Amino acid sequence: MQIILANPQGFCGGVAYAIKVVEHALKKYGAPLYIRHHIVHNTAVIKNFEKQGVIFVDDLEGIPDKANVIFSAHGVAPEVYEEAKRRNLHYIDATCPLVAKVHREAEKFSKDGIQTILIGHKKHQELIGTAGYVNPDLLNIIEKVEDIDNLKLDTNKLIGFLTQTTLSVLETKKIIERLKQKYPNIIDCKSICYATTNRQEAVMELKQYCDLIIICGSKTSSNTNRLRETAEKQGIETIMIDNADELDLVILQNKEKIGISSGASVPAYIVDEVVQKIQNHFSNVLVHKNKNKESEVVFKVPEV
Ligand code: SF4
Repeated sequence: MQIILANPQGFCGGVAYAIKVVEHALKKYGAPLYIRHHIVHNTAVIKNFEKQGVIFVDDLEGIPDKANVIFSAHGVAPEVYEEAKRRNLHYIDATCPLVAKVHREAEKFSKDGIQTILIGHKKHQELIGTAGYVNPDLLNIIEKVEDIDNLKLDTNKLIGFLTQTTLSVLETKKIIERLKQKYPNIIDCKSICYATTNRQEAVMELKQYCDLIIICGSKTSSNTNRLRETAEKQGIETIMIDNADELDLVILQNKEKIGISSGASVPAYIVDEVVQKIQNHFSNVLVHKNKNKESEVVFKVPEV
């Protein structure tokens, strides 16, 4: 049996950044430390921080005044900063710099009066945050190609689009093509990030080598779900697991080449444990692993 590890996979620059912000804050301020929303969408990361005294909350309401609170990697709308200031909370921003960049684009669009089409998942934290930077009179959220039929924008005025950073590259391409047919002068501000793009391309590459793909990551993770879909669309048997305990080894019987990838919020040790479990059970398992293609992408962590 051979295991081929997709490259790149696992932590992206933004997740590594957000996790370091929390580690630095814990060191400096100690527990309890509040985090608005899960810092990244991974069960293992969340449990680890909870053990260290981190309290995850859905909104700022339940946090005592003047407490230390971190905003997650997914970013927040301007109202959240305002509320934190009003409540005298000491807030620390762990928004991924690439999500913050989309916020600046969204603000610029609205300042220029551009009718903004925001492509993404309506209930996802990142999209909710980004939508907050768009003038509500100019905001149009779409999730899929069919939603474009319902858009009624003024073609005499400027129209532009932005995307959530963790979308499917292939699905978004179809949406953009359709948007450009309907609005040929649309301003293209595609914002799927490098990490999402690279991980999906790496999974597509596995197609030629593998007869089963294992995607590691939590069900709440948007980019991990897109990796699973990308693998499934290649017509390859695909399973998604949160950790090694969830791996049913029976599925691997008679498989010769197994591809493994993991979402941008998945710690490397989770994949190591999955590989170890397979090696412990089957004999002569050869693992193909190359140097991480993204090892040089590092976002500088500010003072907390
Ligand atoms: S997936 Fe992209 S946008 Fe999201 S945290 Fe990672 S680098 Fe930032």
